[in-house]
Amino acid sequence: MPLVESNYWLTTTEMPHSDSRELPKRADVAIIGAGFTGLSAACTLARRGANVVVLESETIGWGASSRNGGMVLTGLKLGANQLISRYGRDLTRRMYAASLASIDCVEQIVREENIDCDLSRCGHLEVACKQKHFDDYARQAEVIAREFSHQLRVVPKDQLSSEIGSIIYYGGMVDEVSAGLNPARYVAGLGRAALKARAQIFERTPVQSVYRRPNHGDTGWNVTTSRGTLFARDVFVATSGYTGRATPALQKKLIPIGSYIITTEILPEGLARELCPRNRMIYDSKNYLYYYRLTPDRRMLFGGRAAFFPETAQTIRRSAEILRQGMVEVYPQLRDAKIEYVWGGTLDFAFDIMPHAGQMDGIYYALGYAGHGVAMATYQGQKMAELIAGDNPDNPFLELSFPGVPLGLYTGRPWFLPLAGMWYKFLDWVR
Ligand SMILES: Cc1cc2nc3c(=O)[nH]c(=O)nc-3n(C[C@H](O)[C@H](O)[C@H](O)COP(=O)(O)OP(=O)(O)OC[C@H]3O[C@@H](n4cnc5c(N)ncnc54)[C@H](O)[C@@H]3O)c2cc1C
Repeated sequence: MPLVESNYWLTTTEMPHSDSRELPKRADVAIIGAGFTGLSAACTLARRGANVVVLESETIGWGASSRNGGMVLTGLKLGANQLISRYGRDLTRRMYAASLASIDCVEQIVREENIDCDLSRCGHLEVACKQKHFDDYARQAEVIAREFSHQLRVVPKDQLSSEIGSIIYYGGMVDEVSAGLNPARYVAGLGRAALKARAQIFERTPVQSVYRRPNHGDTGWNVTTSRGTLFARDVFVATSGYTGRATPALQKKLIPIGSYIITTEILPEGLARELCPRNRMIYDSKNYLYYYRLTPDRRMLFGGRAAFFPETAQTIRRSAEILRQGMVEVYPQLRDAKIEYVWGGTLDFAFDIMPHAGQMDGIYYALGYAGHGVAMATYQGQKMAELIAGDNPDNPFLELSFPGVPLGLYTGRPWFLPLAGMWYKFLDWVR
């Protein structure tokens, strides 16, 4: 099969579609974005009887939620020590606990909604690209056990072949609690669950602006879309790396970064077992990292930031060869394996590399998942829905301040990405 520049996961499922009715005049809650965050919020709110309208520029699951590696990961993007020194013990403990709860949250939704998405608690493996990265694993595991009562297992180089069929790494660290799934099937299932709960989803309906309804007794928002204007009591922004001009204050707080994935042809069973004997979700210890896994039908799925810029036809095409070379460095056994699919998607990084949730100028939001969003986006959608419904859920991410760039130096167009890319490559070289 020749190389196809499209998302392999989409070949494994049918996305649900909402029929195109007229946009209602009013809703209790307007949710912008139909990915994990928006759909999980829609399910929770609609089940509690709220009149929910989800507005999606493209189609259900079109964004990062159908394009990702399907790694359902514990922890946050930053390491435990860095989190503790930045936020203190208590807040960090609550954030770490939330990261573990987010995996249970995904599992519970999959079970309750009967979503056929190959969810498996297969664990993840982080592999060390340098000796000093490996030396740090024991310290990290010790801090995580002591502070968060969570066990990680350090795997020295001489035992690493039981975890991965590659000899280039200095050792690894396993977390058995993480999981893997098929993200397109999962987001399709979330979409069906939201529709079943009677949320209304409007596809191909970009939101153009959100502004306070002027001169009116009732508080709320006018949400203007390509199909007309909707009045909503509350608005929840769930647009992640695709956050744009409709919500400029949030756009300025996020850096959209491209991430790219290739998948090989279906591999022989013996070779697949040799590459990934325990079917782990794997990523390496660099800033400019590779992440990889087997798909349920035994393709190698290999991803990374081959280009820092968000996806375009050009960056996707270039990424196929860059990622293939990376994959063969890790697994020379795949030198002759055909690459069948390549695609890209956009990650959302806040300037402090943390997830953020809360209210800005009265509008609710949850975003900034930094490539760790499969579980956390689902969880934040649910927690923010509980908050919008009037509960007081424990959500430590509400307590983080949301940094931006002073003096208007950044308006949401990431002009500095080539420099950032070079900087991270430099850090990987020296550290
Ligand atoms: C290539 C890649 C690999 C990844 N791998 C992993 C992984 O293995 N594990 C992990 O945990 N995370 C991973 N992530 C991150 C994870 O996919 C995201 O954090 C998560 O999907 C975010 O979900 P979301 O619902 O917040 O946003 P999205 O799924 O991106 O949805 C946002 C939606 O908002 C819509 N939208 C934007 N603006 C508007 C507007 N004005 N009006 C209406 N709609 C609008 C967009 O069309 C889009 O569909 C990866 C991401 C990428 C791109």
